Amino acid sequence: MPSDAYDVVVVGAGNAALCAALSASENGASVLVLECSPEDVSGGNSRFTAGAIRFAYNGLEDLQEIVTDLTEEEIATTNFGTYTEDQFFDDMFRVTQYRTDPDLCEVLVRQSFPTIKWMREKGVRFVPIYGRQAFKVDGMFKFWGGLTVESVGGGPGLIEMLTKAALKSGIEIHYEARALSLLFDGFKIEGVKIRHQGELKDIAAKAVVLAAGGFQANSEMRTRYLGPGWDIAKVRGTPYNTGDGIRMALDIGASSTGNWSGRHSVGWELNAPEFGDLAVGDNFQKHSYPWGLIVNARGERFVDEGADFRNYTYAKYGREVLAQPGHFAWQIFDNKVLHLLRDEYRIRQVTKVSSDTLEGLAEQLDGVDAAGFLRTMEAYNKAVQTDIPFNPNIKDGRCTKGIDLVKSNWANTIDEPPFEAYAITCGITFTFGGLRINTDAEVQSTDYRPIPGLFAAGELVGGVFYNNYPGGTGLMNGSVFGKVAGRSAAEYVKQ
Ligand SMILES: Cc1cc2nc3c(=O)[nH]c(=O)nc-3n(C[C@H](O)[C@H](O)[C@H](O)COP(=O)(O)OP(=O)(O)OC[C@H]3O[C@@H](n4cnc5c(N)ncnc54)[C@H](O)[C@@H]3O)c2cc1C
Repeated sequence: MPSDAYDVVVVGAGNAALCAALSASENGASVLVLECSPEDVSGGNSRFTAGAIRFAYNGLEDLQEIVTDLTEEEIATTNFGTYTEDQFFDDMFRVTQYRTDPDLCEVLVRQSFPTIKWMREKGVRFVPIYGRQAFKVDGMFKFWGGLTVESVGGGPGLIEMLTKAALKSGIEIHYEARALSLLFDGFKIEGVKIRHQGELKDIAAKAVVLAAGGFQANSEMRTRYLGPGWDIAKVRGTPYNTGDGIRMALDIGASSTGNWSGRHSVGWELNAPEFGDLAVGDNFQKHSYPWGLIVNARGERFVDEGADFRNYTYAKYGREVLAQPGHFAWQIFDNKVLHLLRDEYRIRQVTKVSSDTLEGLAEQLDGVDAAGFLRTMEAYNKAVQTDIPFNPNIKDGRCTKGIDLVKSNWANTIDEPPFEAYAITCGITFTFGGLRINTDAEVQSTDYRPIPGLFAAGELVGGVFYNNYPGGTGLMNGSVFGKVAGRSAAEYVKQ
């Protein structure tokens, strides 16, 4: 075979792409992976993650197939609980307001356990997420949010382990190789046009898997599809996900679907750079707000900080911050909960103020109306139902009464010094709209038929997430549909 002709070309080298490449290869295809970034920052958004990945499991035995080296002590002191397929379905339906595509959701949920097992067999190692997803109460850790493991070494570790597995399987990876357009004869895919090492090349391929991420790093597309103001958002991850994969498929008549005006976005350090910084990873996020309050420039609250566990609210609260005057907010905590703050609050790159009095704090909250803030605090402190016990492991029902915007759970008075406040803005993670695929990951045309030879997986697929998202599902979505896409592409090639 000439070096520039392959059975399957995969565009991107993130989690979805590498899973697709491994799957195509184990099903007998010769595979080339094209990644537009340099090798040291390759892996797209997947490299920026903590590697937290959601899957259904029925208890410890299942978990031990994924985390193969759990110690006796970990087992004795941890309630890993279960996260059944039914719970996963419920979470997907609830957070997407029953809009997730039922067929794709079914594949996502039911294939989540077999897929993570397959990743483990390929050499990806996982550990429990004690730091962020479990609290110790009465001597026992309890996992509270359906999100129990992360890859060893976080996102960088995940990409390294998948890349190693790919190279071991004989898959070629070209870095700084940008896919520009699809070669298409009007009926079927024939390859990809690329720019690599200063040359334009046509790479012949019988099938192409697009796994090149969403359009969140493209401020023009953000503004066009998400709406005015989204040009202001900070990009949490890679600068390379500029919507190329979506655009090249639409150019040849692919069908678009899903929540094109929707996105995953979070509270993110106010002074973070335009794009993610791999030295900081996901630590610009500030996700301990369920234990405190969030106020805007008027000193007013604007979300129910305790509406649900962090895993089910963080991805929709970024847009609420963006909608505030000046696109910023401050998170407020007192001494009672400082020990619960996630590790991301203890990095150097935070915009933080502290004081022994609320008045002293108010003076330092840059851009905030101090009188408004103190009014909010007074009303809130009076409204907390202190007779209900606080428990971070459950939705404890410790709420407020008598103020317009309720805090539904984990409402503690904020009255014990020292007080700390952290400034945030909106950080966008990825976009929800994208290409229409079927359950075999075949890209559909505007005639609602598969485009022969074209497959897609990961962020650039539409229809899975709407409005919101359960934490840890982005990676699993890419893994499940990457594996399906790779297998489908290899099977197509054999026809
Ligand atoms: C800070 C942060 C933390 C996160 N934490 C988590 C988490 O803990 N758990 C979780 O499940 N999800 C998390 N996510 C979301 C998760 O990163 C994504 O959902 C997932 O990684 C997407 O995988 P993907 O393979 O589709 O895209 P990516 O991993 O982004 O890969 C796309 C690749 O395509 C390449 N590419 C783009 N255009 C071209 C082109 N024209 N030619 C060639 N290559 C191209 C890009 O360079 C990139 O490498 C997080 C995201 C961020 C930003």
